[in-house]
Amino acid sequence: ISAAEQAVLDEIEEKEIDFLRLQFTDILGTVKNVSVPARQAEKAFREGIYFDGSSIEGFVRIQESDMRLVPDPDTFAILPWRDREDGCSARMICDVYDTSSGEPFEGDPRYVLKRALERAEEMGYTVNAAPEPEFFLFEEDEEGRATTETNDAGGYFDLAPKDLASDVRRDIIYGLEEMGFEVEASHHEVAEGQHEINFTYDDALATADNVATFRTVVRAIAAEHGYHATFMPKPIPKINGSGMHTHISLFTEDGENAFHDEDDEFDLSETARSFLAGVLEHAPAITAVANPTVNSYKRLVPGYEAPVYVAWSDRNRSSLIRKPAARIPAASRIELRSPDPSCNPYLAIATMIHAGLDGIENDLECPDPVRENIYEFDERKREEYGIDTLPSNLGDAVDALEEDEVVYDALGDHVAPKFVEAKRQEFEEYLVDVSQWELDRYLETF
Ligand code: GLU
Ligand code: MG
Ligand code: MG
Repeated sequence: ISAAEQAVLDEIEEKEIDFLRLQFTDILGTVKNVSVPARQAEKAFREGIYFDGSSIEGFVRIQESDMRLVPDPDTFAILPWRDREDGCSARMICDVYDTSSGEPFEGDPRYVLKRALERAEEMGYTVNAAPEPEFFLFEEDEEGRATTETNDAGGYFDLAPKDLASDVRRDIIYGLEEMGFEVEASHHEVAEGQHEINFTYDDALATADNVATFRTVVRAIAAEHGYHATFMPKPIPKINGSGMHTHISLFTEDGENAFHDEDDEFDLSETARSFLAGVLEHAPAITAVANPTVNSYKRLVPGYEAPVYVAWSDRNRSSLIRKPAARIPAASRIELRSPDPSCNPYLAIATMIHAGLDGIENDLECPDPVRENIYEFDERKREEYGIDTLPSNLGDAVDALEEDEVVYDALGDHVAPKFVEAKRQEFEEYLVDVSQWELDRYLETF
């Protein structure tokens, strides 16, 4: 038993924790839990906890369904919203192992990300990432079901009394802090009912863990207040959708930011430029993973601060990648603006890392930044600037994923085909459905 594991055992004892939730995610990013009495913690560390993986989306076939969960002691956190009367619960995020081979399970998204980090390490880098998840708070109806009614009419950075939801947001922040988050900022977003909470950057694995946790905490605490928090990318047409901009940077082994170059006009090193070029090159395929729902593509349209065009910029928000103006060397980073909060954070971050590292390995040339508002370009002007467009629907995005060896391989032999299969099926179901829009438009006309 390691020191970190012993510290967890001590804390369980001291804080009288009764239950442990062992957490992991499936391929689609849904958080799964196996709950065990807290006295099993030592056993969990020593030998893992066995569970039946056949019921988990995209995991295993029935014949080989036994999986083993091994908790990561660094992720121990006491759950803030459990009713203390029925005991106090804590959770740990787990790595999934294959019971027959004893090896890490290839279908575990956390392992997919760990593989990306290993590749970065072999090249001499560690990876930092920070997400900016946005979400809506909606009223619930009498039966407790989610509506799309917002509870406030606030706008960007508006304060009370308009921003009635700031109470809820404050409690969410307390809950996050109790779970060890360092919340940097939170504000009301552009749309009614829309919020954003930013937490401090961390290494990419911790950040992906944090996103998974974040969504759970936000939904649970909103529900305590009678609201439904949704991370659906575009719940309401014709207003801003919810993105999850992801900031990323590479650090060298001696703790220097490999993206920083103060002599460069944009404070971007050669390494940063090649990484950026790699992400641009593989952007269409990354989209399938970072924007994995039919609804994601309702957000990626011109005019709502979401990216559509494959370009980068040091100032405007219509481009796919933005280079934030950094004030200190450690903060040099790039911001990918396409991801939305319906994605599996482990897989999305893994694809970004592989794409960027591919850019470095192949010394890809970084194009010039585009400083104009690309939403206003017509097709000719885009062609002139050599600006491509992101896939406009899930089907096209999945095609792009299948054609892109780097991004497909980033997901690995187990996840890639399962992901493609699940997403094709989702898109086909959508294509044969008849929507309310069609009924409104055609039912009485024809
Ligand atoms: N809500 C916008 C999006 O869909 C982002 C707004 C912002 O710049 O924070 O990505
Ligand atoms: Mg925002
Ligand atoms: Mg941003």
